[in-house]
Amino acid sequence: MTGKTGPPLICAPLRIEARAVRRGLRGGLGGSSPRGALPGTDHPPEVLRTGYGTTRAARQAGAISQRSFGQMMIMGVGGGLTTDLSVGDLVVGTEVGSVTCASAPLLAGELRRAGLPARTGRIITVDHLIRGPERAKLAAEGWLCVDMESEPLAAAAGDHPVAVIRAVSDTPHRPLAGIVSGGLAALRALRAAAPVAERWAAACGTRQVLLAGPRSFCAGVERAIEIVERALERYGEPVYVRKQIVHNTRVVGDLTSRGAVFVDELDQVPNGATVVFSAHGVSPAVRDEATRRSLAVIDATCPLVSKVHAEARRFAADGYTLALIGHAGHEEVEGTLGEAPDSTVLVQTAEDVAAFRPRDGERVAYLMQTTLSVDEAAEVAGALRERFPGVRSPSSDDICYATTNRQVAVRAVAAESDLVLVAGSANSSNSVRLVETCERAGTPAHLIDGAEDIQLDWLAGVSVIGLTAGASAPPAVVEEIISALSGLGPLSVSERITTTESIRFGLPKEVRH
Ligand code: SF4
Repeated sequence: MTGKTGPPLICAPLRIEARAVRRGLRGGLGGSSPRGALPGTDHPPEVLRTGYGTTRAARQAGAISQRSFGQMMIMGVGGGLTTDLSVGDLVVGTEVGSVTCASAPLLAGELRRAGLPARTGRIITVDHLIRGPERAKLAAEGWLCVDMESEPLAAAAGDHPVAVIRAVSDTPHRPLAGIVSGGLAALRALRAAAPVAERWAAACGTRQVLLAGPRSFCAGVERAIEIVERALERYGEPVYVRKQIVHNTRVVGDLTSRGAVFVDELDQVPNGATVVFSAHGVSPAVRDEATRRSLAVIDATCPLVSKVHAEARRFAADGYTLALIGHAGHEEVEGTLGEAPDSTVLVQTAEDVAAFRPRDGERVAYLMQTTLSVDEAAEVAGALRERFPGVRSPSSDDICYATTNRQVAVRAVAAESDLVLVAGSANSSNSVRLVETCERAGTPAHLIDGAEDIQLDWLAGVSVIGLTAGASAPPAVVEEIISALSGLGPLSVSERITTTESIRFGLPKEVRH
């Protein structure tokens, strides 16, 4: 790794703060004590006591800007400005006055995984102790925490990676608990945070991000989200949605905040209410229940899933036994199985094919879940063709264009990357398949909902990061991940486009203008 020109510098204003940090660092003492270098760095971290207040901080900032160091972490106690903070909480600065600390989401996520209560937010540096009305005023301006040193120190970092952790010693409910009582809890939190600060320092360095293209939303997901948005506009809150509209926690959280109510089954929807069926489709039994309950249905099933349902009905009507290649329990599979439950058998592996007993070996057909691994599905289909040479298959691929394109694209970036990050939720089939595609290509890969899920030790020693997003993950998450990584050091971003997509699906009449 390059881009480091000296030891990681941990600035702690007060002697007790510096002592807490040193004690928390792995191996006991920081500063001038003999310690080994961090993995991925050339130097052990140095803890520098910078002094209390803005004047001393500014003086130290001048000295720091003249010396060589790799990355800067500022650690100390601070005043909590909002009523939802508690003494001992950690605030990781996204902005410190006018200085941006882009890696804050990574650091906060790592602190939370270490069991520490960490929040990200804006930190303001002032030259005097803050009391009642002024505290409320700063909170109203969007500041989360106040201190008396961070901004001049952070400004001295210049182009070096910089981060700030402030442990809350007083809050609006416990004003000026200060360094005596609230301060003890804050110092304990600082000490506990020190090993995480060390991991952050080890993760800093110069990197390249290779974006896979295409990535993120497909036409079916865009359509499903737009249907819920338009339903909310047209029919008002609440609009019920059976199951997650698409498998992504960010999308579901956003729509929930706008008035969508996600339910597992229709018995949670009041009679006569409006309900949206998710992009994954539903079985005829669910449609029948909605009709019985007089629900106003808006169907957001992806047209490419509907195509598989139609194939299931057609093959079953022609007397075929259907092998549905897919994953047990996935909503799409449950919906497709429901089209012809007496004629359809789920096969997940070549072993399932061996155990498959159709009514008539001469009348067998197979269908696929739309979001499978192209390679794995081909193996199972191959086993079916071998056992039933006359097996019928759909006229066009069931694995959809978006799934296929994203797998091809991520394979291309995996070949050039040390590590691949896949934005997507754990229940998103196509996102999980992207991780597996990289792993089959020999490149480690991790599924993350957002930047906060990136574990810092994944990054130590990694120079090239491949980045993609499943078909249900918003493009904004990719931007957020790039922004967070840029806070760890110089970052170049380039894209490998294997194909472009222009598919759009029309909206159902209930939400069409
Ligand atoms: S992944 Fe494919 S099947 Fe699923 S919603 Fe997107 S386009 Fe439709």
